[in-house]
Amino acid sequence: MTMPPDKPKSAPQKAMEKLGLVRDIDLALHLPLRYEDETRITPIAALQDNEPAQVEGVVVDCQIELRSRRQLLVRVKDESGALLLRFLHFYPSQQKQMAVGVRLRLRGEPRIGFFGREMVHPVVKVVDEGTPLAQALTPVYPASAQLPQAYLRKAVASGLARADLREILPAGVVPRGLPSLKDALTCLHHPPPSASLAALEDHSHPAWQRLKFEELLAQQLSQLQAQRERALLEAPALRPGPGGLHEQLLAALPFRLTGAQQRVAEEIAQDLARPRPMHRLLQGDVGSGKTVVAALAAAVAIDAGWQCALMAPTEILAEQHFRKLVGWLEPLGLQVAWITGSVKGKARQKMLDAAASGEARLVIGTHAVIEDKVRFAKLGLAIIDEQHRFGVAQRLALRNKLKAMDLEPHLLMMSATPIPRTLAMTYFADLDVSTIDELPPGRSPIVTKVFTESKRHDVVDKIRGAVADGAQVYWVCPLVEESEAVDLRNATETHAELSAALPGASVGLLHGRMSPGDKAAVMAQFSGGRMSVLVATTVIEVGVDVPNASLMVIEHAERFGLAQLHQLRGRVGRGAKASVCVLIYSPPLSDTGKARLKAMAETTDGFEIARRDLDIRGPGEFMGSRQSGAELLRFADLQEDAPLLVAARALAPRLLDAHPEAARRQVARWLGTKAEFLKA
Ligand code: ADP
Ligand code: MG
Repeated sequence: MTMPPDKPKSAPQKAMEKLGLVRDIDLALHLPLRYEDETRITPIAALQDNEPAQVEGVVVDCQIELRSRRQLLVRVKDESGALLLRFLHFYPSQQKQMAVGVRLRLRGEPRIGFFGREMVHPVVKVVDEGTPLAQALTPVYPASAQLPQAYLRKAVASGLARADLREILPAGVVPRGLPSLKDALTCLHHPPPSASLAALEDHSHPAWQRLKFEELLAQQLSQLQAQRERALLEAPALRPGPGGLHEQLLAALPFRLTGAQQRVAEEIAQDLARPRPMHRLLQGDVGSGKTVVAALAAAVAIDAGWQCALMAPTEILAEQHFRKLVGWLEPLGLQVAWITGSVKGKARQKMLDAAASGEARLVIGTHAVIEDKVRFAKLGLAIIDEQHRFGVAQRLALRNKLKAMDLEPHLLMMSATPIPRTLAMTYFADLDVSTIDELPPGRSPIVTKVFTESKRHDVVDKIRGAVADGAQVYWVCPLVEESEAVDLRNATETHAELSAALPGASVGLLHGRMSPGDKAAVMAQFSGGRMSVLVATTVIEVGVDVPNASLMVIEHAERFGLAQLHQLRGRVGRGAKASVCVLIYSPPLSDTGKARLKAMAETTDGFEIARRDLDIRGPGEFMGSRQSGAELLRFADLQEDAPLLVAARALAPRLLDAHPEAARRQVARWLGTKAEFLKA
């Protein structure tokens, strides 16, 4: 098929496309950043210092002054007083335009000083006496260099006029006091002069509330639909037999499960026993022992004759799981396959064959496990560790892969970053949650200390002492290479420096640019206790488990996010040894930087950390890290709009049952293609 050639697009048209302003509805939903009030005229005498205003007056004097700097000075008068207009850049035509006797309408910020009132570079319009004023506040839209405000205003106004804004929702279901969608949008684009600017700006205005409600409702509907769709799917019912692998594994463990581990393992086992796919998140602070719970779930699936896949976000973490699970399961006669990006050639083919034939009952790896080429004979359970570290695209790929099977496998996600309640009600409404709220016994709490860069020498001295006493230390640096823009201490340099400062101690280096084989070799040395200090970049951030390590130093701690700092700190305090985490920062600290380090010093509770993180960053950013930057809610704010969220959550099932077609249109109008992402 040949397509007709497109008409060439103008620069503003292209700029609009870039902003996603394509359909009428996109334009109608492109809301003003702020408003200008051109609906009234302020008498010159009533002007307030620095308060933007519109005045109207007649020019009484207009001349170029050359004294200090060439500038155009125009004096205008109304009945109440005089105002000086000052133009530091101007065209000759402007001098003509503002000739004596001409009436001007001016908008700008007045300065009121010793010599009277003045405006620098006001917006100027030549008018006749009695020229009508604007009837509504003038919208100022998010624009760009290629997209002039005036062009955008026209485009939005016509988009708003054309867009189909008929009510989708049946009468009586929208919270009382909120306007219709059409009225709400008309008001937001062209508010009447009586509208409260403050309410428009802080989004508490009923018109805003209506928009937010619509969006939250669409989001709740799409979650609910996903949940109901899932409930129709069939999964294998996995029940462990007596004396099976599950029991053998429990008996072989070198420790007893904590109460919390037992409880969540039971919740998971109950899900697995049902012929409906499990969709469960296992959350528990770093070090709370999620891995063994995952292994028990895997044992249930394998016992029942199915395969299990376990995915981790990094090679190091996948490798560690692999070792741990091989250590637990191979003695029980199980074959475990290992698939990552770095397993290549014959070895890879062997693993692929083992997965496809069903011979490998457990397949562990990175996201390579969801690649097209990997086939499973009978996948019954998929486990994703540190699920928030996987991007949206990867989670979708996994879902699509799972969909292709006859029976839907069960899905268990694990995360050390607890989900705050409002997020649990929205993005994760379609998820059951199990929480490990207890750490294994015998852990001594981690003491966190914060030092400025100038105390770095003292820290090195402390480490020398600790290493002499047999301690193992992580030393975390933010970047691998010196970058021009940011003056970060280079991990390689730090490695050399610490090697020199700690003669006789084995100091290793681990960073993201090393080959997986080299990384594994270094990790093996450190976890085997043959290395005292491991200088590393954030490659060790998630999941690494070396119980004997008891000291963690994080350099340039101010450059890390709170969740990341907590994860890093979680690498110590895993054994009986009293552990210390030292945060070194280089001043000056920003306010949020200060708040983060303070939070770290004050608490080691992951739930508290997550709450503070949400406070510091706001839900938008908090989600950003989870959802790979995809901004999913445009209008609603989960924290502020909790009451609307509760209303939307209550309405969603009623609407879906009584008006399924309206529900479908609501989701399409508000989420469009994003609906897929919400399910990921
Ligand atoms: P995380 O929840 O951060 O993934 P891990 O599963 O890595 O935590 O467990 C942390 C450490 O605690 C591991 O060394 C693990 O073997 C150990 N562990 C797990 N459960 C228990 C328990 N009930 N008693 C003692 N140690 C445990
Ligand atoms: Mg873990």
